[in-house]
Amino acid sequence: RFSGVVQGPPDPILNLGVMFRADPHPKKVNLGIGAYRNAELKPEILQCVRKAEEFIYKHPETYTKEYLPLEGYVPFLKEAQKLIFGPDHVALKEGRVCSIQELSGSGSLLISADFMHRLLGINKIYIPNPTWGNHGALIGKALCETEKYTYLGADGLYIDFEGMKKDFLAMPDGSVILLHACAHNPSGVDLNEEQWRELLPIFKKKQHLPYFDCAYQGFATGDLDKDAMAMRLFADEGIEFIICQSLSKNMGLYGERCGAIHIHTVDKETADRVASQVKRIVRATHSVSPCHGAYIASVVLGTPELFELFKEEVKKMAGRLLDMRKKIYDALSKTAPEKNWDHVIYQRGMFSFTGLDSHQVKMLADEYHIYMVSSGRMALTGLNDGNIQYVADSIKAEEVK
Ligand code: PMP
Repeated sequence: RFSGVVQGPPDPILNLGVMFRADPHPKKVNLGIGAYRNAELKPEILQCVRKAEEFIYKHPETYTKEYLPLEGYVPFLKEAQKLIFGPDHVALKEGRVCSIQELSGSGSLLISADFMHRLLGINKIYIPNPTWGNHGALIGKALCETEKYTYLGADGLYIDFEGMKKDFLAMPDGSVILLHACAHNPSGVDLNEEQWRELLPIFKKKQHLPYFDCAYQGFATGDLDKDAMAMRLFADEGIEFIICQSLSKNMGLYGERCGAIHIHTVDKETADRVASQVKRIVRATHSVSPCHGAYIASVVLGTPELFELFKEEVKKMAGRLLDMRKKIYDALSKTAPEKNWDHVIYQRGMFSFTGLDSHQVKMLADEYHIYMVSSGRMALTGLNDGNIQYVADSIKAEEVK
C-alpha cells in the first residue's frame, strides 16, 4: 500500500537549515533563515512576551486550556485589528471588519483563499513575481490557481511600477491580487506611499480585491504604524479587502502559530455574514485555533506598558537588520566595487535580493559554507559583525569567477 509512495522533495527554504546544521565548517553562515536572530545569531524570546507569559500563568482562571470559540480568542482579535487599522479607525468603530483567528500567516492564507473559492467563486489569485515560495502551494490547496504579475523589472532588483499597473489594468475586472503589506519577501522591495496611492483608483475602477499578506509589520521601517500604511490607505477609501496577519516575526511567536484573517467589508451586517462562513471553513479544517499565542499577543497588545515594550523591541530588531544591511552594503561596495550594490541599501526588511544567480548561490554553499535561497535572497538576520566581511569576500570571489 505505502511502498509505492515516492519520495517528496525537501522544502527549498526549510532544507537550508538542515544543510547548515549538518555542515561542520567553523565559518559557516546561514543566510537562509526567515526568522530573527540577535547579534549572537541566536533566536530570542521578546521580553514583552516573557512578561505576558508570566501574567498568563498567574491567571489560570482566565487563561485556560479550553477550546477557543470558532472565531478565536476575541480579546486577541480586537487588539490584532487595532494593530493593523490603528486604534481609532472608523472601520473598526462601525464593525465593518470581521476577524477570525488563524494558524498565523500560512493558515490565514489557506483559509481565506478557501473562503474566496467557495463563497466568491474565485478560481485564480494573482501573486507578485517574485513572491514567498509557499504562496502558490497554500493558495493551490484552496483549489485556486495562481498567476504572476509584474513586480520587479528585468534586473530583478528594482520595482517595475509601470509594468505592475499595466498588469493590474489588463486583468479581468474583480480579480484578487495578493499584495505584500510591507517588507516584501523575498526581494525587500516595497512600493512607496505615492505608488500605493496611485493603485487606489485602479483597484476601484477595476473592482479588484486587494489580498494583503502582512507578515512583517514593523520590519520595514521599525514602526508598526508606518508599516500598516498601505492597508490603512485602502481602508480609508472604503475599499473591501482581506488581510492575512502574522505575529510570527514581529512578536517572535513563530511556533505558536498566531495570526488572523481580517476582512474589511462595507458594513457590520456583511461582516457578520462573512465571519459565519469563514468559521465554517475553520471548523472543517482544524476545528479551532491554538490559544497560547493568542493569549500572549492579547496581553502584550492590550497592556500599555507591554505594548510600549513591544514597540521598542520591534524597533530594536528592525534596527539590527538595518545596521546589517548598511554594513554588508559597505563591505560589498568596498570589496567588490566593480559591481553596483545600491539595490541592497534601497531594499528593506528582513531580506535582500543580492542579484546572485542560483549557480553562484550553490557555489557559495559548496565552497564557502554560506547558505541562502537559490533566488539569491539573503536573510540579513544571519549576519553579524563577525561574519560580514567573510560573506562579502566570498561573494566577491564568486562574482569575479
Ligand atoms: N507570508 C510571507 C510573505 C512570509 O514570508 C511568511 C513566512 N515566511 C508567511 C506569510 C507565513 O508565516 P507564518 O505562517 O509563520 O505566519
